[in-house]
Amino acid sequence: MEQTFIMIKPDGVQRGLIGEIIGRFEKKGFTLKGLKFINVDRPFAEKHYADLSAKPFFSSLVDYIISGPVVAMVWEGKNVVATGRKIIGATNPAQSEPGTIRGDFAIDIGRNVIHGSDAVESARKEIALWFPEGITEWQKTVHPWIYE
Ligand code: UDP
Ligand code: MG
Repeated sequence: MEQTFIMIKPDGVQRGLIGEIIGRFEKKGFTLKGLKFINVDRPFAEKHYADLSAKPFFSSLVDYIISGPVVAMVWEGKNVVATGRKIIGATNPAQSEPGTIRGDFAIDIGRNVIHGSDAVESARKEIALWFPEGITEWQKTVHPWIYE
């Protein structure tokens, strides 16, 4: 089953959105497979966002991610990468639809509350980076009520 990496950024934590965000993924039917509440350092944040290292906003993005604790998660389910991105909404909250997390809770692109992997391959890399110890294996018994 497909997995994605989801991170509640420091602004989402500070603004008390942890429960709201986890609730949206849970209520959709996705399965929580990994969860940790941590501070990351600059080299780690630079590694997570390595693909964006040439962008003009890279250093401010790294400053933002290391500014406070984050909630790092692995969520599992059918098409969870693409559907997770839809639940999150467009990168710039000015363009995110109402009903999405960024559309409902964010205004500025540099304070957009949440990260989600953009492809199955980047999800695999991000999960390996954030959860090198591996994740807890379990199956929800509600599975047949979510999948046909
Ligand atoms: N970002 C920014 N300014 C920009 C573009 C992106 O501050 O012009 C930040 C924003 O927080 C975004 C993150 O960099 O979530 C990663 O950018 P990406 O294009 O990967 O967007 P995402 O995948 O998070 O939607
Ligand atoms: Mg991205």
